[in-house]
Amino acid sequence: MTPLDRHGRGALHFSGGKDSLALVYLLRPHWDRLALYHVDTGDLLPEVREIVDRVEAMVPDFRRIETDAKAWTEAVGLPSDLVPTTSTPMGLAIGASRRRIVDRFECCAANLMVPMHQRMIEDGVSLVIRGTKRADLARLPHEGGETSLGYELWLPLLEWSHDQVFEFLREVGAPICRIYEHRAGPERSRRVNAPECATCPAWWSEGRAAYLRKHHPDLHGAYRARLAAVAAEVTPHWNALQGEL
Ligand code: SF4
Repeated sequence: MTPLDRHGRGALHFSGGKDSLALVYLLRPHWDRLALYHVDTGDLLPEVREIVDRVEAMVPDFRRIETDAKAWTEAVGLPSDLVPTTSTPMGLAIGASRRRIVDRFECCAANLMVPMHQRMIEDGVSLVIRGTKRADLARLPHEGGETSLGYELWLPLLEWSHDQVFEFLREVGAPICRIYEHRAGPERSRRVNAPECATCPAWWSEGRAAYLRKHHPDLHGAYRARLAAVAAEVTPHWNALQGEL
């Protein structure tokens, strides 16, 4: 008996990325018992949005949660992988900088994770199904079967590899976003994650610049401008650190 059988219905978290797309296809025989929930930050890559729209048209119950990551970052601060102390509330209070920088986890929590979690609670969801895999993180914040969030978590792809996911998507004829074909990083390795926000100035290891420059020059311009604003805050600290070393 699966967790879905025990609960009767479940909420599938669908980002538009390869793992949650694989879940959608894997659980196709049970679509009548699933509600798909998607958080739209307002900054999705157009090709990811196309896949989201396609899935929305396929499944019987699709619920879109809209946030505005760009407005949030303008109001609160730009997300970054490195946060200079001068750009924290204390740094701003003493006039060390005029631009607030926030850590990327804070921004993702505010614009993705918390709105999704709150919606689960509001809708009285008892079972959440996610495409999380062990291969994604060094340590999972929540294991399958956990109920500490107020609902049970089911992670059917937990032991799958990235390659298994791609293989499965090809087998079932699911759309594979072209961003996964774009080689990124110093080793030109295959990309395994699609960005949550196209112009996010954090998550530098995603290596979005070359892809955006090639396929979305307008988005690349916006991305670069936001990166430059973060770099202006981070670079003096980085240079000082290197000098000391
Ligand atoms: S991907 Fe970037 S902009 Fe989008 S929510 Fe996360 S940190 Fe914020």
